[in-house]
Amino acid sequence: MKLFTVGPVEMFDEVKVVRAQADSVPYFRTKEFSELMLETDELLRKFANAGDEAKTVYLTASGTAAMEATVMNCFTEKDRLLVIAGGSFGKRFVDICEIHRIPHDVVKVEYGETLDGEMLNQYEDTTYTGLLVNIDETSTGQLYDIKLLSDFCKRKGMYLVVDAISSFLCDEFDIAGHCVDVMIASSQKGACISPGLSMVVLSKRIIEERVMKSDIRSLYFDFKDYFKNFERGQTPYTPAVGICIELSASLKMIERVGLANHLKHIADVATDFREKIKALPVSLPNFPLSNAITPIIFKEPIAYKVFEILKDKYGIFVNPTGGMMADYSLRIAHIGQTSKEDNDMLIEKMKAAIEEVQAVNQ
Ligand SMILES: *Cc1c(COP(=O)(O)O)cnc(C)c1O
Repeated sequence: MKLFTVGPVEMFDEVKVVRAQADSVPYFRTKEFSELMLETDELLRKFANAGDEAKTVYLTASGTAAMEATVMNCFTEKDRLLVIAGGSFGKRFVDICEIHRIPHDVVKVEYGETLDGEMLNQYEDTTYTGLLVNIDETSTGQLYDIKLLSDFCKRKGMYLVVDAISSFLCDEFDIAGHCVDVMIASSQKGACISPGLSMVVLSKRIIEERVMKSDIRSLYFDFKDYFKNFERGQTPYTPAVGICIELSASLKMIERVGLANHLKHIADVATDFREKIKALPVSLPNFPLSNAITPIIFKEPIAYKVFEILKDKYGIFVNPTGGMMADYSLRIAHIGQTSKEDNDMLIEKMKAAIEEVQAVNQ
């Protein structure tokens, strides 16, 4: 089996070794586990350039819970948020605002459109307290311009909340440089480990001005408890201990390789794929892409059939696409343990799958 999917992803051998060695998940209310968490957190904040004053919340939950918990801890009905909605993950932020009755306006990015300064112009004169964005809208693969959004928020004195779940550790990310108040990451995407753990990195400013003052109506998702416990490297409730250990292994591996080299490898594999895929009857979108994933668009409605042949005949997994593009688009991830040789193998099998579908259709 080979995964070219964005989450779970094909894990690194080093992480697989740690998983295999762990015959039993260790007890965690110990000095040793605390040390592992504190050391892991140093690396996480370093890779995000978060600075020493930022704090991380480790939630045993998938990314969506981290998105919802962030909104619940940082905003109320008295806020007014601007949400970038260019696909299913942007829509999820909109749904969260609706459920929690937080006033919001939506910047809708239609499929194929690129988010640019002009689209933000009409919101320039309205007062907003925060902006929510999925910096890589994984459902389309569009990587939004962080500088554009960061400048907009600075100009307007807004908090900047970035869901970087599929972008962090795949594309460069600079919390301090772009004045990001919240960065949301999740285990099964950029960190390339098992699903179940999410990391929310918060700036000093949003912690002091919002989180510490919030009267959130939730026990499990109250970030205040997480900050207090993490002073000694612990979480208020049982964490996904095994995934914390995987995270430690994954970040240590990136530290050893060097973050810049790690990102360059992903970028090189992505560029290689985007070049070689031109040999097949598919096209790529015009908007800027994350290194994490390449959406390919078929001329005929055969995408899902190609997905099935790759899976059933060759044991290769790529991401299907939801919604109106389901029959026309597949998404290929470049993160985790993948190489240019894997690209050759994938493209060869895709070519065979496309020919098989076309033969049946004739
Ligand atoms: C995967 C993903 C999420 C979270 O999805 P879960 O299934 O809840 O982990 C959120 N945002 C983005 C951009 C994602 O790619």
